[in-house]
Amino acid sequence: MKQKRIIILLCMTFFMSGCSKQALKENPNPHQEIGSEVAELHIGTKAVTSVSYPKTGYEKLDTKIAQKIRKLKSDFKKDTENYRGESAPELNINFESYMKDKRYLSVRLLIYEHIYNNKEISQTLHYDIEKDDFFDLDDLFEDDFLPYVSKQARQYFQSQYPEECKRADFRIGISPVTQNYQEFVLQKDKLVFYFNPGTLFDQGVSFSMSFDKLAPYTDLEKEEKTVFVPYDDVLNEPVRVIDPKQPMVALTFDDGPTRKYTEAILDALKEHNSAATFFVLGNRASNAPDLLQRMIMEGSEIGNHTYSHKQLTTLSKERIEEEIMHTQETIHKITNQYPSVIRPPYGSRNDNVLSCARNKRIVTWTLDTEDWKSRNTKTIVNRVMNTVKDKDIILMHDLYATSAEAAIILIDELHEQGYQLVTVSQLYEYSDSHQYQGK
Ligand SMILES: [Zn+2]
Repeated sequence: MKQKRIIILLCMTFFMSGCSKQALKENPNPHQEIGSEVAELHIGTKAVTSVSYPKTGYEKLDTKIAQKIRKLKSDFKKDTENYRGESAPELNINFESYMKDKRYLSVRLLIYEHIYNNKEISQTLHYDIEKDDFFDLDDLFEDDFLPYVSKQARQYFQSQYPEECKRADFRIGISPVTQNYQEFVLQKDKLVFYFNPGTLFDQGVSFSMSFDKLAPYTDLEKEEKTVFVPYDDVLNEPVRVIDPKQPMVALTFDDGPTRKYTEAILDALKEHNSAATFFVLGNRASNAPDLLQRMIMEGSEIGNHTYSHKQLTTLSKERIEEEIMHTQETIHKITNQYPSVIRPPYGSRNDNVLSCARNKRIVTWTLDTEDWKSRNTKTIVNRVMNTVKDKDIILMHDLYATSAEAAIILIDELHEQGYQLVTVSQLYEYSDSHQYQGK
């Protein structure tokens, strides 16, 4: 046993000092290459919103992004004022950001709205760092570039969707006029065009061309893409003993990981030899692979909170499946483990969600700190300490400074009061699982 511990310790030391740092540097989220993230969550009775967008550090671009976000939020508010439908209206904004090279930066906002129907579009912004200004295709390519792209795109879509290409919408939308090709991003080795739903087809589609092919039309140079470096296996050895006779609670953190706050929470857990469950979002997980590995190595649990935080009950079965599986694969790629617990965003679920969850346990909560609402450390701490009882599942978000501060205090106080801080799976192991039904 002692020898085993030493081996684990050695592996951990090696891992923390070597692999994770290297991995972090070489392994950014392939879809979020630049900037830090601004994240907002609002769970109202009338509407739910989950918004995240980048802060790139380029003022002009950041101002424009902020304007767009404000406009999207105020339009959504206006559109939902007299809403009388069944499920809560939802606004969900995510983003992708790409660096072509040191000069050209593209941001793509992915906007999903559910009011009476689902609407899903993307909007792109293109920024030239050298000129400190926005750029368009005309700035980068020769005049005869667009007819060439249009022809290639037409051929591609005709091979993919032969029937739908006979419609007038397609013929108009694919024609070589600038306004048809305004939604695009420059990646390292290719140019990608997006066509929103209702432009070419009912569904949204994309078309990409490598810079190799575009060489006659531009001076832009092709740059090699960073290759994904796979991780070594991560050890997961139980390092603490749980006493089933003593009270226990499970702290759970949703919507992360975020570098600043998740790290602080992990530090506090480690100090008290305690664990928690982190219901991570797939698109944030890939930005912080080292944090995910640390969670597992320090005995915490990672749960699946979907890829982009959409209300699953508003999606088709295929899309629910995609949200869940994409996240399972992302987490597995980083930690070599598949999560066995899922928490659907906003706790919303129906039969489709249940069937897509398959053998994974759907976990909600028994104590809601409403930390996203108060954003007040003291309120959060008091709410928990005044109502906590044995076997509670406590809901928090590692999105805000106040939540992290509250978590640090709570870890200490709960520990003082004799609570063991365990993962949700451990909690289920030692409980009558019926007590969590219906929440
Ligand atoms: Zn959430």
